[in-house]
Amino acid sequence: MNSAQPLGNLADILIVDDEPNNLRVLSNLLKKHGYKVRAVLSGDRALAAARSTPPDLILLDIMMPEMDGYQVCHQLKHESATCQIPVIFVSAKDQGFDKVKAFAVGGVDYITKPFQVEEVFARIDCHLKLNYLQMKLEKQNYQLQAEICQRNAAEKALQEQNEQLRREIERRQLTELALEKANQELARSNADLEQFAGIASHDLRSPLATINGYAQLLQMCGKEQLDDKCNDFVKQILKLCDRTDLLIGELLSYARLNQVQEPLQLLSCDRLVQQALENLGTEIYQNQAQVTYDPLPEIIGTESQFVQLFQNLIGNAIKYRREESPRIHLSAVLQDNHYLFSIQDNGIGIDEEYSQYIFQIFKRLHSQDYPGTGIGLATCRKIVERHGGSIWIKSQVGQGSTFYFTVPTEQRVVERQMIEAIGHPN
Ligand code: ADP
Repeated sequence: MNSAQPLGNLADILIVDDEPNNLRVLSNLLKKHGYKVRAVLSGDRALAAARSTPPDLILLDIMMPEMDGYQVCHQLKHESATCQIPVIFVSAKDQGFDKVKAFAVGGVDYITKPFQVEEVFARIDCHLKLNYLQMKLEKQNYQLQAEICQRNAAEKALQEQNEQLRREIERRQLTELALEKANQELARSNADLEQFAGIASHDLRSPLATINGYAQLLQMCGKEQLDDKCNDFVKQILKLCDRTDLLIGELLSYARLNQVQEPLQLLSCDRLVQQALENLGTEIYQNQAQVTYDPLPEIIGTESQFVQLFQNLIGNAIKYRREESPRIHLSAVLQDNHYLFSIQDNGIGIDEEYSQYIFQIFKRLHSQDYPGTGIGLATCRKIVERHGGSIWIKSQVGQGSTFYFTVPTEQRVVERQMIEAIGHPN
C-alpha cells in the first residue's frame, strides 16, 4: 500500500466482518473483479493485518462484538503505519448507523447492506483513485518543500557571499584610500627632499668654489714660502674640493631628475650607447676596455637620462674591473610589452645579498679601493622607474655582473599615457 502508482484492480483490499457469510460473499465478489483480497473476522485481527502489511483500502463492518468498526477505524487513524489507509464502512440498513460518527473517526465513505455490486466497485475505485492522488500530491508537496529548503539554503549562502564581497570591497576601498593618501604624502615629501637637495647642493657649490680658488692661489703664490708638508696639505685640500664638487654635482643631477622638463621622444638606443661611450672615452682608453653591443631597439624616453643610464652602468662595469681588461656586452630582447636590456661585465662582481642594497643612494661596497659617490645606481633606478621599468643585478663575486633593466615598448608607453590622460582629464 501507500504506493503513488495507480493501482486499479491490483489493489489489496482488507475486508473486516464478524459474519463469515458476509465475508465470503463480498470476498468472492471482489476477487472476481480482480482485486487481491484479505478477509478477517474481528477488529483485533483487522488491526494486526493492517499493521503487518497495510492494505490499499479497508471495507469495515460496524457492528462487531468486542471491538466495533468505529473503534477499529479510530485506532487505525492514530497509527502512522495505517493512518493513510482509506476506510469504507459497511453497515446493514436496519442496524443503527451513525454516519457522522463514521466520518468523525476517519472513515472516507460508507456502503449499506444489501448493496448493489456496481455501487461497491464504484466507491472502492473512487477512493483508491482519491487516495492515489492524495499520495501523489503529498509526494509532490514533499519534493516542493525539499526544493524550497534547498533554494533557501542557496539564497542564504548567496547572501553570505554578497556580504563577504561587500566587506571585501569596503576593505579594498579603505586600503586604496590609505594608499592614495600615503602616496600623496610620499610624493610631497619626495618633492621637498628634492628641493632641499637641489638648494643645498647649489648653495654648497659656491663656497666650495671659493675654497678651491684660494687653495689654487696658495699653491701658485705660496709654494716657495710653504714647506713640503704644507704644500701637501694644499694638494689634499684641492683633491677633496674636486671630490666634493663631484659629489655635489651628482647629488644635484639626482635631485633634478624629477624636475627635468625635457620631452619624451623616440630614441635610438644604438645612438644613446654611442653617446655614452664617447663620454667614457678616457676611461675606455685607460682601461683598454672592450665594449660590444647587439643591435638595440628604439624606445620612448628622455634622451639625457638614458645617456646617463647607459653611461653609469658601462662606467661602473669599467671601474669595478678585475686584473684582466674589462669586456662588456650590451643586448636587449623584446618580452611581452617591454624590452629587457642587459649589460654584462667580467668585473669583480658582488655578493647576491647586496643586490638590493647597492641601488640605494650613498650605498657602496668597495669604498676603500674604488673612487665614487654611491649615487650612480640610485640615479639609474630612478631613471628606469620614471620610465615605467625596473632594474636589478645578477652577480657572482669574482665572476662578473649583469645589470638588467626593462623599458616599456612604444605601444605600452602610448597605452600608459592614454590611461593617465583618462585618469587625469584636466
Ligand atoms: P659608486 O660607483 O659611485 O660607488 P654606484 O651607485 O654606481 O656608486 O654603485 C654602488 C655600488 O655598487 C658600488 O660602490 C659598487 O660597490 C657596486 N657596483 C656597482 N656597479 C658594479 C659592477 N659593475 N660590478 C661590481 N660592483 C658594482
